[in-house]
Amino acid sequence: MDFLSKLGKKASEAYGATAEKTSKIAKEAKLKMKINENKSDIKDLYTEIGKKVYEKHVREENIDISTELEEECTKIDVLSAEIETCLKSILELKDQKVCPKCNKTIEKTSAFCPYCGEKQEETEATEEAKEPEAVLEELETVEIKPENETEKEIVKEELQEEIKEEEEKEKKEEN
Ligand SMILES: [Zn+2]
Repeated sequence: MDFLSKLGKKASEAYGATAEKTSKIAKEAKLKMKINENKSDIKDLYTEIGKKVYEKHVREENIDISTELEEECTKIDVLSAEIETCLKSILELKDQKVCPKCNKTIEKTSAFCPYCGEKQEETEATEEAKEPEAVLEELETVEIKPENETEKEIVKEELQEEIKEEEEKEKKEEN
């Protein structure tokens, strides 16, 4: 290999490392945004639930709000599961994980937790956060009102995109 092509290779390697770092920062920002959006949606749902319960209580009418409440609670569960997935992804971007015993953030490669001394599983089997596949499956089985269908479709698309990204990442690692 001549000097120039060696130099070219070095430059592209350096660029690759920088690009990877930039994309990690962008990914983290995107995940944090998603978490904040979900948190705000959850807050709105809690308000909605509270309002319904209040109105039913005050009016003392025999209206049945259980179906609506059920739906809103399921939405909160789906949003919370998404937050868990995002948090896990953020840690993975930083090569970190959460100790299953004390819940402190530690290095992914730690054999023992530096805080509580818990022995860490070497495999990734300790993950408690739901995979996008699981969240998607859960979402498919949820009964949702027609006016909320669009929202459901958006979440579904996001999850599918996430799954596709994961698959592509795995393919790249195999090659
Ligand atoms: Zn620990």
